[in-house]
Amino acid sequence: ALAPIPTTGPRVIAIANQKGGVGKTTTAINLATALAATEKKILIIDLDPQGNASTGLGLTAAARAQSTYQVLMGDLPAREAMRSSGIGNLWVIPAGVDLAGAELELVAEMGREFRLRMALEGQLDGLDYVLIDCPPALGLLTLNALVAAHAVMVPLQCEFFALEGISHLVKTIERVRRLFNHDLDIQGIVLTMFDRRNNLSDMVAADVRGYFGSKVYNTVIPRNVRISEAPSHGKPVLLYDLKCAGSQAYLHLAGEMIKRERGWAA
Ligand code: ADP
Ligand code: MG
Repeated sequence: ALAPIPTTGPRVIAIANQKGGVGKTTTAINLATALAATEKKILIIDLDPQGNASTGLGLTAAARAQSTYQVLMGDLPAREAMRSSGIGNLWVIPAGVDLAGAELELVAEMGREFRLRMALEGQLDGLDYVLIDCPPALGLLTLNALVAAHAVMVPLQCEFFALEGISHLVKTIERVRRLFNHDLDIQGIVLTMFDRRNNLSDMVAADVRGYFGSKVYNTVIPRNVRISEAPSHGKPVLLYDLKCAGSQAYLHLAGEMIKRERGWAA
């Protein structure tokens, strides 16, 4: 049997939802920035071929030449692929377009679901949290993240079919737990793009809380135009407009996460 992921190193959290546009990347970037502001040492692994987390952090094409692709293929130690984000305490392993091919190339490889987990072994010293920004699919890349992670954070957009889409993800998590990663757990569900003027947002939030109970974060991320503007400036919203409701929500989320995480390995 596979040895459990060490609990002495950082906590590794996959940010996953097979739906696109639900706030995975936004949550990865801004939660990471908020955590880094509390002196925690954070690594973002950009596992989406679109590389939105990398561009959102302002990484140039040159800074993205060495990327998750080489790490997954075993051609580059993860430690050497870590780049400074330019933000204190926050590092990133960026994604390049070559990652799009990885999904197909991995199919024929041995231990294809374990590539990321093997690549991270012994490479994460000194970090407190590793956040993996997953692509909007449940293919091999997301599977690699689920096998390499202690837990999954699920951003859920407050819209009508929110719960319907998530059952597929929950089944995948259960399968990964059975087959590959026996301790994998849902770390939490984060409601995103909440619109207080829209009754539907309240109904969806109540539904999700009814179903997932305390797994759902109390902190809710509001729909906020500053959040959507920030990536085009290559900045997390926290550095773009600290006072806006979006930044404040992500600071809150980081605080709640640290509280929830306290004693996870005890
Ligand atoms: P995913 O990574 O799940 O595909 P993103 O984080 O890229 O989703 O978000 C999709 C789009 O919605 C992006 O343009 C992003 O800027 C925007 N967005 C995300 N969260 C919010 C929010 N709370 N308020 C307004 N826009 C948001
Ligand atoms: Mg994304």
